[in-house]
Amino acid sequence: MENTSLLESDACFLWHPYSAMNGRARVFPVASARGVRLKLANGEELIDGMSSWWCAIHGYNHPLLNAAIDSQLQDMSHVMFGGLTHAPAVTLAEQLVKLTPEHLENVFFSDSGSVAVEVAMKMAIQYWHAKGQSRQRFLSLCNGYHGDTFGAMSVCDPVTGMHRLFSGILPSQLFAPAPQPGFGEPCREEHIREFRNLMANHAHEIAAVIVEPVVQGAGGMRFYSADYLQQVRSLCDEYEVLLIADEIATGFGRTGKLFACEWADISPDILCLGKALTGGYLTLAATLTTKAIGHTISNNPPGIFMHGPTFMANPLACAVANASIELLLESPWQQRVEQIAQGLEQGLAPCRKLPGVAEVRVLGAIGVVELKQAVDMNAIQPAFVEAGVWVRPFGKLVYLMPAFIMEEEDLAQLCAAVVKVVAAHT
Ligand SMILES: *Cc1c(COP(=O)(O)O)cnc(C)c1O
Repeated sequence: MENTSLLESDACFLWHPYSAMNGRARVFPVASARGVRLKLANGEELIDGMSSWWCAIHGYNHPLLNAAIDSQLQDMSHVMFGGLTHAPAVTLAEQLVKLTPEHLENVFFSDSGSVAVEVAMKMAIQYWHAKGQSRQRFLSLCNGYHGDTFGAMSVCDPVTGMHRLFSGILPSQLFAPAPQPGFGEPCREEHIREFRNLMANHAHEIAAVIVEPVVQGAGGMRFYSADYLQQVRSLCDEYEVLLIADEIATGFGRTGKLFACEWADISPDILCLGKALTGGYLTLAATLTTKAIGHTISNNPPGIFMHGPTFMANPLACAVANASIELLLESPWQQRVEQIAQGLEQGLAPCRKLPGVAEVRVLGAIGVVELKQAVDMNAIQPAFVEAGVWVRPFGKLVYLMPAFIMEEEDLAQLCAAVVKVVAAHT
């Protein structure tokens, strides 16, 4: 298809994420992607700083991941999961149980992160129902992000989330202030006071606390104290409330640990995984819980867990997830993430001197340049493309989360482009 007619049809027919149908926001046609580079339809190559939103940890078009899909395709691309099972799903479940924090032993596969969160919330409600208690509210953190479906939306930040627009239909949840102590800092009594008060006053109606461990992603790209997370775990134990860890963004090495919960040495009662699970190849998510919760739900009326997606445990997605995890575990990923952290720290440091920059922070393979004012997307997006990189800011945040395979030189170039564009546009 000709580039111009492709763009015309796109503008005419297609929504993009958080977009309007008025053709004002520019989109860039991609022809192919390989390693850490996106090749645009006009032949230009961009170094990709986004890993397609945390997903493509091994880069694009990886021969081993391609082979895993090819091979699975010869057997079957999909069969229903009701009454049937298959090796890719069983292998993946076993692997996830082995790798994730202890006691998480029952696995529910779904299609996307938001649905994994819906499933987690449903599990928590069904658990308490099975125990004869009606607990249907959730305690979440300000600045949190958990997805775009209704249940997930209800636990997103109440201000930056979409609560006002959908206030009539969203369940009303409880919110504690965003964690104040930063990553590596201790959590003092005053930092957890309001959270503790909410627990003390509402525990009887709270099905679960839901948090993104250590890194609050789309709600502000904030890194917070592992000590805070540890205290959240203790308070959940103390008040007998379940803890849901949403590791959809942080899972599979991004923060420098395989799972961000490991920074606090805690295990949640329910864990959500997605994004990098398939190495960015296909959409797949998982919700894991403990045997105790799984069995409590199963051994009390209605005796079944009430969820069953059509494409549950899609074999192609499970096969590529298995290959992606194997690839990750066989690679020196900790070293690579550490090197990327150093490269981001060095490469983004000049931003600290720019007048429009409020803060620069790095954790693992995540680099954030927080600006004093929101960017003008229509100006800054083409500027990044012109500079030869793919970076997609939101609000005041210009951030990078490169594939773990990114070479030092590409990373330096990527960071230099960010410094240059931020300097010119703030
Ligand atoms: C992206 C994300 C989700 C939603 O996942 P989708 O696959 O986009 O539905 C949920 N929670 C967190 C922490 C995320 O980063």
